[in-house]
Amino acid sequence: MSKIISELTLTKQFLMINGLKVETPTYAPLRSPYSGEEIAQIAMADKEYTKIAIDAAYEARGVMAKMPAHQRAEILENVVSLLKERADEAAEIITRESAKPIMFSKAEVGRTIETYKFAAEEAKRIHGETIPFDAAPGGVGRFGYTVREPIGVIGAITPFNFPMNLVAHKVGPAIAAGNTIVLKPASQTPLSALFIAELFEEAGLPAGALNVVTGPGGTVGEAIVEDYRVNMVTFTGSPSVGIGIRSKAGLKKTTLELGSNSALIIDKGIDIDQIIDRCILGAFSNQGQVCISLQRVYAHEEVYEEFVTKFTAATKQLKMGDPFDPETYISSLISKSETERVAGWIGETEGSTANIAAGGKMVDGILEPTIITDADHDLKVSCQEAFAPVVVVNKVSSVEEAIKEVNNSRFGLQAGIYTNNVKNALFASQELHVGGVIINDIPTFRVDQMPYGGVKESGTGREGIKYAVEEMTEMKMVVWNHS
Ligand code: NDP
Repeated sequence: MSKIISELTLTKQFLMINGLKVETPTYAPLRSPYSGEEIAQIAMADKEYTKIAIDAAYEARGVMAKMPAHQRAEILENVVSLLKERADEAAEIITRESAKPIMFSKAEVGRTIETYKFAAEEAKRIHGETIPFDAAPGGVGRFGYTVREPIGVIGAITPFNFPMNLVAHKVGPAIAAGNTIVLKPASQTPLSALFIAELFEEAGLPAGALNVVTGPGGTVGEAIVEDYRVNMVTFTGSPSVGIGIRSKAGLKKTTLELGSNSALIIDKGIDIDQIIDRCILGAFSNQGQVCISLQRVYAHEEVYEEFVTKFTAATKQLKMGDPFDPETYISSLISKSETERVAGWIGETEGSTANIAAGGKMVDGILEPTIITDADHDLKVSCQEAFAPVVVVNKVSSVEEAIKEVNNSRFGLQAGIYTNNVKNALFASQELHVGGVIINDIPTFRVDQMPYGGVKESGTGREGIKYAVEEMTEMKMVVWNHS
C-alpha cells in the first residue's frame, strides 16, 4: 500500500474511558483485510474494563442531562468542522481497516459530516406538546405538557461496514439528546471509532460522555447488554447477534438495525440504459457489504433479457484491486472466512437451475462481482443475506408476481421499484412489507435524515437523526392543577 500511514494506524491503541486513554493487559493485532499486513495493535477489554467504561458513562449522565441544547449543538458543530478539516485522513482510516475502496470511503466521510450536522440541528428542536386536558370531564381545570428527557446511558454496538457513519448514527443523536455513551465498535474497524472519539474530545465533549471499548463482541458487547445501568442498547449488525441481544436486554430499550436481502422490481417500459449505473452501485458498492445492498432483482419479462445483457456488460468493466487505488470499485471482503462463505454459496448454484452470468470466481483473493440468473428461492444466495458482491436476477411476468417474490423473505429493510405506471408504484408502496419503499430508484438509496429501519428479521426501531432522538429520549408528562 502506497499511502502515508496516518498517526492512528500502526500504533498501539487504547480504550477511551472518561476522557483518558486506557491500556489493557492484552492487545491484538489489527490486519488489513486486503494485504494482511498489520496496521495497529488494539486494546482488548474484558468485562471489568467494560464495567469501568459504564461507570464513567453513568457518572457523566448528570452533566450531559443538564447541558443546554445550544451547547450540545455547538459540540456537534465543532465535530463537523474538525471532520471536514481531517476528511482525507478519515477516509484513509476507513479504507485501511475495512478495505473499502477509497472512493466509497470518501463518500462515507461526506455522509458522516452530514449526519453530525443533522444531529447538531436536531439538538435544538427536542420538545414535547401541550395536551387538551378538558377534552375529558375529569381533566377540567388541568393544564399539562410533555417533555422529552434523555434516556441516560446508551450502549452502542456497531458493525464493520460503515465504521464511521454508523457510529455517527448512534453517537450523534445520543449527544444531541443529552445522553452518555459506551461504544463498542466492530473488532475489524475500531480505528474509525477511536478517531471520532478524539474529535469529540477536541470538540469539548465532557469526560465520560463518550467512552470507546474495543474487544471481542461476545465479551464487551454482552457486558454492555447485561449491565443494569445501561438504559438503552442501540445495535447495528447481523440478525443472529441482534436477536441474542434482544433476548438478554430485559426491560432495556433496544433498537436493532439488522440485515436484509433487499430487492428491486423492474417493470416493463423502463429505459434500461438509465438504470444500469444505479444497479451497479446498489449491488457492488463496498463489495455488497451494505445492509440494503441490491441482492435480488425481479425484472419484467419484456425487459429481462436487455437488463441482464447490459448489467452483465457493465459489471465486467468494474476495476478490482487495491482499495487505495482511486479507480478501484471492488476490493477484498472483510475477511477470508467471509470470502470462503460466499464462494460456498455461489458453488451451491452448480447443479441447480441457476446460471452465472458474470463473475463467480476469485482473483488474487478478491471475489469477482457476481450476477446469477434463474436462481431458485431456496438457494442461499436468494433467501439469506449474502453481504457480498452477489446479485440474483429473475424474470417475472407482472409487478404482482414480483411483489410476492420480494415479500417472500425473512427480511424487510427496503425495496425499490422502477416503473412508469403510477398505479403499479402505488400498489407496490402499499403491498411491499419493508421499512422503506423506494420508487424509481434502487433499495440501496439512503440519506441520513430519513427514517430508516426494518420489519421482520431486519430489526426494530428507526434511525435517521430525528427518529433516533425519539428513541433515545423518554417522554414525561407534567400536569398542573389550576382549578
Ligand atoms: P455482527 O453482528 O457480526 O457484529 C456487529 C457488532 O456486534 C460488532 O461490534 C460485534 O463485535 C458485536 N457483537 C458480536 N457478538 C456480540 C454479542 N454476543 N453481543 C453483543 N455484541 C456482539 O455484524 P457485522 O459487523 O458482521 O456487520 C454485518 C451485519 O450488519 C449485516 O448483517 C448487515 O446487514 C448489518 N447491518 C445492518 C444495517 C442496518 O442499518 N440495518 C447497516 C449496516 C449493517 P465483534 O466485531 O467484536 O464481533
